[in-house]
Parts: sequence; C-alpha cells; structure tokens
Amino acid sequence: MQQELKIYNTLSREKEVFTPISAPYVGMYVCGPTVYSDVHLGNCRTFTAFDIMYRYLLHSGYKVRYVRNITDVGHLVGDADEGEDKIGKKAKLENLEPMEIAQRYTTDFHRVMEKLNNLPPSIEPSATGHILEQIELVQTLLEKGLAYEINGSVYFDVRKYNEGNDYGKLSGRVLDELMAGAGTRELDGQEEKRDSIDFALWKKASPEHIMRWDSPWGVGFPGWHLECSVMSNKYLGKTFDIHGGGMDLKFPHHECEIAQGTAANGQDPVKYWMHTNMLTINGQRMGKSVGNAVLPNELFTGSHDLLDQAYSPMTLRFFMLQTHYRSTMDLSNEALKAASKGYLKLMNGLRTAQKLTYVEEEGVEINEKAAKQVESIVNGIYRGMNDDLNTAVAIAGLFNLLKKINSVHLGQLKPAELGKELFDKMINTLQVFTTEVLGLKEEKPSGFEKMLGLVLKEYKVAKEAKDYGKVDEIRANCKELGIAIKDMKDKIDWAYDEQI
Ligand code: AMP
Ligand code: ZN
Repeated sequence: MQQELKIYNTLSREKEVFTPISAPYVGMYVCGPTVYSDVHLGNCRTFTAFDIMYRYLLHSGYKVRYVRNITDVGHLVGDADEGEDKIGKKAKLENLEPMEIAQRYTTDFHRVMEKLNNLPPSIEPSATGHILEQIELVQTLLEKGLAYEINGSVYFDVRKYNEGNDYGKLSGRVLDELMAGAGTRELDGQEEKRDSIDFALWKKASPEHIMRWDSPWGVGFPGWHLECSVMSNKYLGKTFDIHGGGMDLKFPHHECEIAQGTAANGQDPVKYWMHTNMLTINGQRMGKSVGNAVLPNELFTGSHDLLDQAYSPMTLRFFMLQTHYRSTMDLSNEALKAASKGYLKLMNGLRTAQKLTYVEEEGVEINEKAAKQVESIVNGIYRGMNDDLNTAVAIAGLFNLLKKINSVHLGQLKPAELGKELFDKMINTLQVFTTEVLGLKEEKPSGFEKMLGLVLKEYKVAKEAKDYGKVDEIRANCKELGIAIKDMKDKIDWAYDEQI
C-alpha cells in the first residue's frame, strides 16, 4: 500500500483514514437487490461502485469478507410499513411461487453482475434464509423495552430509543421535524403505531399476504430493515467496518439499521457508511418505480428508444467508472459513445503494453525527466484511488501512463532510459489497475485472435498481389466488426477501432 486510503463516511460527513477494526480483516456489507424484477442500470452503478471498493481493498492487501444480501421478503410496495410485498405481488400476478420469482431475478442479477465483471461477494445470504434470526432480534428488542407489540405486529419505539441515542444521525433528519412531517401526511396503518415515526419489525400477515411465517406474535413476516441488521451481525459481527448502498437507502433503511443494531447490542453497528450517488436519465433518478429504468440487456442490444446503438458491458463499466461514485451520473448516448472510445483506447494500450519487453542497452543512461514523470503518474493513480476511490482520477492517470507506453512503443523512449524496475512498474500498474482494480477486460470471444490472424493473412496476400478491391473489402469488413487494420513497416497488425 503506497498511501493511506481515505473514504468519505456518511456518518461523520468527512473523509476519514480507513482503519479497519481488526486489520488485515475487513468486513463489508452492501444492501443487495430486491429480487422482484430485473436490476436496472442505476442498481448496476451502485453494485459496481462497491465492487471497486472490494477490489481495491483486496489490491491493498486486506482480507475482505464481502456480504451482499438478496432481499426476497419484507420489502413492501412503496417502501413503507403497509401494503403488499414486492415479491409476493409479482408472484400473485404471474401465478407463481414467491420463491420462483426470487430465484428468477436472482439468477438474472448474477448474470448481469458477471457480464459487468463484478466479483461475487464472499457470502450472499437471503432474508428468507434468516427468519429465525430476525425473530430473535425482534425478541431482543422487545426485552430491551425498545419495541412493542400491537395486534400481532411489532414496532420499534423510535421516541424511546432517541432518549439515549440520536435517531437521524446518519441521514441528518431531525426527529421532531420527522414527526411533524409525518403528522400531516396520511400514513396507512399508522393508527396502529404509537408514533407515526415508529417502524415495523414484524408485521401480522393479512389472509391474502402469501409470504408468511409463524412467530411468537402469530403468523406474519419481517420488516424490511430487519434483515440487513441480522445478516450483517451474523456474518460480520456486532460492529463491522463498511456498510454500503445507494444514497436513497440512507433513510429510512440505514437509519433504522443503526437504531436496531445499537438498541440490540449497545454499540454502533457500522464504522464507515458509504453511499453512492444516483444514476440519472434526462436529469431524473433512474428507478423501477419512476418508470424510466433502462435494463442492462436493453443497453447491450441497443433495444431502447433512448439508445442510438448497442453498448457493450465493458463500455458501461468504463462509463460508470469515469465519474466519482458520490457524484450524479447522467446516462446519454454522447457519454456512452465517449466511454466506448475511452475503453477501446485503454484496451489498445493494454495490448501495446503486453507486447513491450525490457531491453538492456549499454551506454543508455536513465532519462531522469521521463523517469520522474512515470513515477509521478503512478503515484497519481494511487493518490486518486486513495482519495475516496476516485476512479475518474485513476483513469486519467492510466491514460497518461499510456502516453509513456506509446512513446516506448514508437521508439521515442527506450525502456533502458527508465531502468528495469520502473519500466516493469509502468507496465504492471497499467495492467493491474485496468484489469484487477477497475475490472475492465477485453471483450473478444475465444478464438478471436486466431480467426483474425487468418483474415490478416488473406489481407497480406491481397496486398502483395495489389488486389486493392479485396484489400478495401477486408478493411471495411473488419471495421464493421470494430477492428482497425494497421499497415506497419515490417508487418500487419490490428487494434480496436476507437471510432465507433
Ligand atoms: P433495490 O433493488 O431497489 O433495493 O436497489 C438496489 C440498490 O440499487 C440499492 O443500493 C439502491 O440504493 C441502488 N439504486 C437504486 N436506484 C439507483 C440509481 N438510480 N442509481 C444508483 N443506485 C441506485
Ligand atoms: Zn439493506
């Protein structure tokens, strides 16, 4: 690790030096998808941001236990305490078992994550797999006097909790204002609660509610916030290092998690809270409920009204990494096209770098200026990542590194002018950051190079025979497939065509 990593903690509202509770072990929990429909590009942004965190921690030498859950019960339509379960509703509509719905969208979610080259988490627990633990937590909260039962439902007593704690400290909401606000709104079922601000820990199931379990309070189902408290506690401990999610989850979901964890264990459950900003489209947050969601497959096939063409998974990944995770990001054809160009440029640079070898040359002295520049670019890439995972700065650094690599490729800078150690560091940094830390990889199908080799042979024969009609035809066909043929002095080479 070159410099210390600082991350912005939503709780303290400051960038803090990352010091794990028990280094080198790091516990990270990220709220996973609610599996009642396809994930959209907004969801992908958040999961990719935490994939970068995971990858960078691994790169920095930490041993990370990364838990990302699957929400397959308890998340009600409208994100409130009353109403239908999102998965239950969909199951009824399609006449399926709720678990068929959950399984279908979990499988789809995994496919999308794989396409985007997001690493699988260490543990992926589901809410329905932890009903017993959720019931236990409700019991603990009842015993502590911070929850109360009414008509087979159990609610968290926010006002009582707030006497010794600060409810609202994460989201910056002030309890009195929250209560005043809630008082003026119609909240379904709030008449049952003592206070409108109280939230459900366990809900009694109405006869038509199909997702239901036995409990000490009758047949019901867990409240949405409970699962994350239970699963993070079970797999990462009472207090763990990092908890993440999109910023829309700060309130009420994460605020309630803090309250539940603190109330049950007497200690703050999380050391660093991290929140991603939203992916927007035409300036509006992308969301399932907003009705403006673009799905990954629509992007990969170009089958969406707003898209001029298809964009590949790695183009999407590059597009997302070009913006810092705490800034908003707007999806547009212009931005995606620019991302495609940038991504291909990086892949071409990687190919060039892989072909370079270090040659010791007698009499060649170290070029102090060039060596200093390379050092400073490498340091800048780390500095960017260490400054709250600024992938935008890291990518800019990689492009600067590419310039140097190209100078070597074109013979303007000799490897020996950098010395072996620095030359290797330059090539390694480009490779490791691009593929391992940023998770960007080439998208060519297997056997691609072999096929292309045959085409280039044909091309060479046509060129030698001065059959320019054929030469142009091969060039045009390759271009259509995104490949630019390069006529070099002594050979014929290829690169990804950056002009799409
Ligand atoms: P959900 O499946 O709706 O619970 O969302 C899964 C994750 O995606 C959560 O962390 C959300 O905060 C996040 N998310 C939802 N919409 C967006 C968006 N437009 N941009 C970024 N993240 C989002
Ligand atoms: Zn959660």
